[in-house]
Amino acid sequence: MADLAGRSDIRFLATVSEDKESAYSYAPNVIILAPSALRLNTCQLAFVVGHEIGHIAQRHFDEDARLLSVVSGKGASWTGNGDRAMSLLDGNIALAIKLSQHWQRQEREADWLGALLSAEAYGCTLDEGAVPYLQAAAGDGGGIGAAHEPSAARVRWLKAFAESARRLAFQSYYLDN
Ligand SMILES: [Zn+2]
Repeated sequence: MADLAGRSDIRFLATVSEDKESAYSYAPNVIILAPSALRLNTCQLAFVVGHEIGHIAQRHFDEDARLLSVVSGKGASWTGNGDRAMSLLDGNIALAIKLSQHWQRQEREADWLGALLSAEAYGCTLDEGAVPYLQAAAGDGGGIGAAHEPSAARVRWLKAFAESARRLAFQSYYLDN
């Protein structure tokens, strides 16, 4: 899937900790998988990993750093350091609220890419991967300044791509078998 997204440089690391989400990524090219992710079935795991690949392929971390600098009114050459830009968020709810819609757009993009990458690479339909994964996470997301919409809203939005994913899954099944 990383190759399909044009990012064959992505590094996958396993953690024993469940303190964060089951899968997450950080700049510029690292995806971390917790034990709970590795217990998912193939299509659900493909969806979450595809979602994280989507964040990296679309350079969402760079978008965040740039946008935080702009929204905070920092000058164009204030920092070339993404971590320093992200630190502007520390304790600053007002800034997080300003970025909330931008994060939700990124999450939708990552959900959409995750669904299509998992269809192309593993023949997974939405009903096999994204939907059961998000339904199991019901109750997550939402709230003021949130990056993730509530899981039910993510499923509703993804349904628009069900037919695209089904066709990709069907084609990849017949090309590969
Ligand atoms: Zn995400």
